[in-house]
Amino acid sequence: MKLSFEKSVAGREGTEIPATGVKEKKTDDLLDAKFLRKELELPELSELDVVRHFIALSRRNFGVDNGFYPLGSCTMKYNPKINEVTSSLSGFANSHPLQTEKLSQGSLQVIYELQEFLKEITGFPSYSLQPAAGAHGELTGIMIAKKYFEDLGEERKNILLPDSSHGTNPASVNMCNFNSVEIKSNERGGLGVEDLKQHVDKDTAVLMLTNPNTLGIFDENILEICKIVHDAGGLVYCDGANANAILGKSKIADMGFDITHLNLHKSFSTPHGGGGPGSGPVGVVEKLKDFLPKPVVGKKSENYFLDYNIPKSIGRMKAFYGNFSVMVRAYTYIRALGPEGMREVAENAVLNANYLKERLKKTYHLQYDRICQHEFVLSDKNLPNEVTTIDVAKRLLDLGFHAPTIYFPLIVKGAIMIEPTETEGKETLDEFAEAMEQIAKEAKEKPECVKEAPLCTPVGRLDAVKAAREPNLRWVSKE
Ligand SMILES: *Cc1c(COP(=O)(O)O)cnc(C)c1O
Repeated sequence: MKLSFEKSVAGREGTEIPATGVKEKKTDDLLDAKFLRKELELPELSELDVVRHFIALSRRNFGVDNGFYPLGSCTMKYNPKINEVTSSLSGFANSHPLQTEKLSQGSLQVIYELQEFLKEITGFPSYSLQPAAGAHGELTGIMIAKKYFEDLGEERKNILLPDSSHGTNPASVNMCNFNSVEIKSNERGGLGVEDLKQHVDKDTAVLMLTNPNTLGIFDENILEICKIVHDAGGLVYCDGANANAILGKSKIADMGFDITHLNLHKSFSTPHGGGGPGSGPVGVVEKLKDFLPKPVVGKKSENYFLDYNIPKSIGRMKAFYGNFSVMVRAYTYIRALGPEGMREVAENAVLNANYLKERLKKTYHLQYDRICQHEFVLSDKNLPNEVTTIDVAKRLLDLGFHAPTIYFPLIVKGAIMIEPTETEGKETLDEFAEAMEQIAKEAKEKPECVKEAPLCTPVGRLDAVKAAREPNLRWVSKE
């Protein structure tokens, strides 16, 4: 296949618009010429060539809209198209962030009401919708904790993290200049309470916990855990990225947490995986609300306004109001489903994961064999002929599925982390299970076909390091 640059024909144009009556003015006259580089050497193509170019590119990608995407911890569920309709309504899409409050009442109302929904769903009395992603929410939450302890005049240096934690957790801890202290998980996949007691002391600022955690396990000791940390004067942070498992079922604040972030782009549906935009709102308990980033959106009589009156605020975390279009999608999602629909999200996320787990544990090793929440973690332990997790992941591509998350969480060796999400039907789950079973069978009978996979994708198995260092973006057709 030729590159679009090779298809270029001098003088060929994409569009036909009538000549303008306005006199032409050279850009050099308008801009300082030294900022202009030489003219871009773009290919000259017809409109059809351009359409085919981009459609061909889009078909080389894999997304939730063209197949099952069981990437654990990422909640790659179907994103209803109604979200795209509402977020592109002209009043939202064409509003300008510098518009006055008076002219932004509709947008401010959406932000305000979304805050109210998140308060109801999680039980926290105050929210900031500024953070642009989960990791950004973590940073915000830890900065709030830092300022809280500064305000108390306490110097606490440590943040405790379970060994199953998501990589962004220790990264956020590091960025705020805290020490991260690892707490071991227990044999049931929850936080090791004894190990926690060993490490909690007057230096403990925060325990960061994901609940349900990255093994898909809801921590049965959560109330005791929070009490241990609180008794030592520390705060407990919830990484709420897995909220789809508990929506409408349990409130994060009721579990004893002081701070949480949510991932609107995961739990509340926005296409993600390409790097954003996302939204990672942060909710806090009463005693931390004066530390939230400012402004927050408030309401006085019937007017919505930007409230800058937050005395001990950590400051601004994001320009304007955060990623507004993601908020419109989340708002739409919540309004479309309603409270009953929210509960069904959680029920189906948990049902789907347990259905797949029960079937696949007959073929693959399952380290934590218990009822799971929205995801579960298999491993390559029982596979014959030295077939490993990466081989299984690559072979799945041949069979038309996106690979699960692999080699994470680190506490399961050769982890295969599967999150089917609530939006998949039983037929799809069965097809995926069949593919996984076929691979296990191939591992026994013809291991070379698994070890050499993928065989049916545009490019075969790449040297992942070399591909990242020396990307070859040229389309190489197999034949
Ligand atoms: C996705 C995820 C994060 C990070 O969220 P981003 O929006 O990708 O920054 C943190 N923790 C867990 C458990 C996650 O799944």
